[in-house]
Amino acid sequence: MDNVRIPVLPYRGEIFEEVRYANFLEKTGYTTTPLPMKILSFGGCNYSCTYCKRNGHSKEGKYIKGSVWVEFSEIARKVNKHLRQGYTIRLSGGDPCCFKGVTKVIARYVKKKGGRVSIAHNGSDPEFVQQLIDYTDFWAIDLKSIRPDRFRRITGTGNKSNEYLNNTLMSISLVSWYDIPVEVRTIIFDDTEESELIEIAKFLKSCANLNLYWTLRLYKGQAAGKFKPPELTKVTDMARRIKEAYPVLKIGIRKNWNGESGLLTI
Ligand code: SF4
Repeated sequence: MDNVRIPVLPYRGEIFEEVRYANFLEKTGYTTTPLPMKILSFGGCNYSCTYCKRNGHSKEGKYIKGSVWVEFSEIARKVNKHLRQGYTIRLSGGDPCCFKGVTKVIARYVKKKGGRVSIAHNGSDPEFVQQLIDYTDFWAIDLKSIRPDRFRRITGTGNKSNEYLNNTLMSISLVSWYDIPVEVRTIIFDDTEESELIEIAKFLKSCANLNLYWTLRLYKGQAAGKFKPPELTKVTDMARRIKEAYPVLKIGIRKNWNGESGLLTI
């Protein structure tokens, strides 16, 4: 694949150098120390969320505007460097389901070298999840809404939205069935209803995955007009009531991106 070029989203001008920590793994007790991940953000996504901080709604042809085309050999070199330095390789986006072949090649390679692989996925493609399941250590999967109309509005996926919503539930069930740790991420706006969060809680409880952590991500207001940020106190109160009703669920609120301190466990 040496001469293959792949669209990648830079972070602060750099490619495949962003570091994040998988804080949810400590919250579930799966690890005791923070696991640092190097993030490879592919420059394509099958959703068009208007609030996307990676610009996923803004595309040139199939690819997200601002993507940089990088030779596979350069990505492979960085995979080796990050592995030597002890990082988990997180394949993210955009969405890696739009780059199935290269995602699988990298994940298999990392596992063969004894490294750790994590995938961040919008949930739309359970076949992709199935293909990668043997090469992954933990996942992050979005469940942006469990209500068809709202899901459609949030994701901008038009007449494919029902299929994508069903697929998302399947993806989360599949990862849980294989007993793989997963952070399920739900974006929270000011009009998110507690009754919807209860519907999601019921579904997540049915997944019976002890290493499933549900993160309510507070919308921070990047999208003009359409969505509004929620109040932290209101979300915290809702989350506490849900935790009381579903004590088996591990629930957190992502307030900001300041590592573990930005993730409030309920
Ligand atoms: S699924 Fe994620 S990357 Fe894709 S448009 Fe939505 S927020 Fe952006």
